[in-house]
Amino acid sequence: MNKSRKRKQSEPNSKPNKFPIKAIEDPFPTHCRPTPQECLSIRDQLLSLHGFPQEFAKYKDRRQQQNHNGSDGLSPEESVLDGLVSTILSQNTTDVNSQRAFASLKSVFPTWDDVLAAEPKCVEDAIRCGGLAKTKAACIKNILSSLLKKRGKLCLEYLRDLSIDEIKAELSYFKGIGPKTVACVLMFHLQLDDFPVDTHIFQIAKAIGWIPAASDLKKAYLHLNQRIPNELKFDLNCLLFTHGKLCKKCSKKGCHQLIEESQDNSCPLLKYRTNDCNESLVNSGP
Ligand SMILES: [Zn+2]
Repeated sequence: MNKSRKRKQSEPNSKPNKFPIKAIEDPFPTHCRPTPQECLSIRDQLLSLHGFPQEFAKYKDRRQQQNHNGSDGLSPEESVLDGLVSTILSQNTTDVNSQRAFASLKSVFPTWDDVLAAEPKCVEDAIRCGGLAKTKAACIKNILSSLLKKRGKLCLEYLRDLSIDEIKAELSYFKGIGPKTVACVLMFHLQLDDFPVDTHIFQIAKAIGWIPAASDLKKAYLHLNQRIPNELKFDLNCLLFTHGKLCKKCSKKGCHQLIEESQDNSCPLLKYRTNDCNESLVNSGP
């Protein structure tokens, strides 16, 4: 059975019009939270509670450098393709393990051409310490081979000249790259204003009523990206992620825990929980 989709041979400079670019729609247009004011206020409170998280400091520096130098400034130390692969390696593992896996991959295979030419098993072995080695190795090799077919070389630097919507369309071309990976590449590796939603952020957003109780991750991503002011997205994302990992009241149990411990004022997010959230708990049955 030939189930392969016909893929047009694309010229290196062709416009990324393979995917229609739709205006982003808010799945909850009448849900008017978060407000810009509460985004700012939560950013400031989390910043004074945790400081800016060290693990994201290098990305913040890069954004500041870019603001000073403009896009024609110093060439970035990390390629977009490096960023994409490191994002894939970071899935379902700790930061330490994913960084180890990336460093190991780079030391065994100094160039992306080397990775593409390597036996899958050898790539798997190189990234084993990051977990899910077989899946991640297949995903990385598939992206590399699709990229070579599409662009003629293993380079994603051209994305730096595109808009957010165009970049999303371009990255959707590759099998195995989901919306969260795209959002992380946009925010961390292209220094653009996007707001990825991981499970920590999703739980918090639900608990404090930023998204309706019935929201799923995809809708949460669309809604929060519409509501959160661009200039706050990066800080707020890093801080909420870190808070979700560190705060016992916000981790795992989300809404339930926030309500049980509502007398406690050690978590600055407690006061933002809403009636929406209470109702969703009371009426959580069918
Ligand atoms: Zn908390």
